[in-house]
Amino acid sequence: MYKKVHLRLTILSTGITAAIMIIMSFGYLYVSEKNLYQNQYNSFKNDINTISTNLETQSIITMEWLSKMETQNNYIFFVLDNGTPFLYNQLSNFYDVSQEKLMQESMNIYQQMFLIDHTENSVSYSSYVSHHVQFQFKSKITNENYFCGVIEIEKSKSILQVIILSPLHLLKKQISNQRIRFFAIDGAAIFLLTLFSWIFTGKLLKPIIENQKKQIQFVASASHELRTPLAVILSSAECCKNASIEEQAGFIKNICQEGMRMSTLINDLLTLSGSDNHQFSIQIKPAELDTLLINSYEAFEPLAKEKSIALLLELPENTIPLCPMDTNRISQVVSILLHNAVSYTPESGKIQISLFYRKNTFKISIKDNGIGIPDQDKKKIFDRFYRAEKSRSTKDHFGLGLSIAYEIITAHHGTITVSDAFPSGSVFTVTLPGK
Ligand code: ADP
Repeated sequence: MYKKVHLRLTILSTGITAAIMIIMSFGYLYVSEKNLYQNQYNSFKNDINTISTNLETQSIITMEWLSKMETQNNYIFFVLDNGTPFLYNQLSNFYDVSQEKLMQESMNIYQQMFLIDHTENSVSYSSYVSHHVQFQFKSKITNENYFCGVIEIEKSKSILQVIILSPLHLLKKQISNQRIRFFAIDGAAIFLLTLFSWIFTGKLLKPIIENQKKQIQFVASASHELRTPLAVILSSAECCKNASIEEQAGFIKNICQEGMRMSTLINDLLTLSGSDNHQFSIQIKPAELDTLLINSYEAFEPLAKEKSIALLLELPENTIPLCPMDTNRISQVVSILLHNAVSYTPESGKIQISLFYRKNTFKISIKDNGIGIPDQDKKKIFDRFYRAEKSRSTKDHFGLGLSIAYEIITAHHGTITVSDAFPSGSVFTVTLPGK
């Protein structure tokens, strides 16, 4: 399922970005091609202007000058003197039938466009005004586009006509090269985009996948833990049916005990699921942390005494400021830590509760000289349902206590860590920020 989502997300993000990129590329290409065309046309117009001025001022048009103009600008020149091709065209190597047809075609288009009748009779040389025009056309003969400039100059009672053609195949090539470059860049960019989208969406989905795995694991562990007391309750209830009154009392006691275990477990599960759904309500108010520890100490003293464990409390000598905290929740954390300390410390052991206040930080440490926690388990003990050595924990240890403590302390923006105590046992340290 996540593979499909991963693929879809990659396609979606790549698709949107690629579409935007392609639209922008097309827009840029359109503007750039238009500019290229316009620039070329403007420079052609300027050349026609210059040539026209040169022709008007030159008394003799030399062949060298014409061929220099042709090769320099990649133009095709046709020069007509009173409608007859100039000697230059006749001598030129390139001047063949198709060239003549091309010249005729451009002349016809020129005449159609500018409605000029150049039949012998209609031209009045005396009233003739020298001029030049430019236009663009597509030749049916060569099947190519041209910029065409026609210059007409009156020179010693005859009309000199110069047709200048600039074939556009170079411009076309330039444009198509630019398009190929753009498509190649776009293709490479789309490829890289797909690759990065795949990696990034994968990274994005990783915590979600891991979270789902944890949820599945959590539900499986919770069901497993609930199954045991439920099985005891059901079998005790079944046995009750045929048991004597005295036997029934024993079974009912079992049912009550297992019911209590289930209730504790369900409460723990509800606390954790509330924290997962961000419905973990903590009401932070300034309160006395030393008083809270005294209360916890008093609550656990009988339990410690039962196991002949020495429970000690060390508080700062000077008065400390009020600690911003949810008293019930912090008290729950201290109870979890004390309960564990009592559970994992053998008889005649020692547990020390200490409170420090330094640099606007409250530090609670609960140190025991019990069985300790192996290094490889230290990180995992805050995971849900993790028990370092299942055989060492009693029935009412589900492996949820420290994960609840962790959630509560994190919600207070504090920290909870574990380290080894000397010479044996463990120290749990909780820090809570001050104001
Ligand atoms: P549990 O309900 O099993 O105690 P916790 O989440 O409170 O669950 O603790 C997880 C595990 O960490 C315990 O099963 C135990 O192995 C280990 N542990 C916690 N506190 C101590 C301690 N004070 N000394 C030794 N081991 C501890």
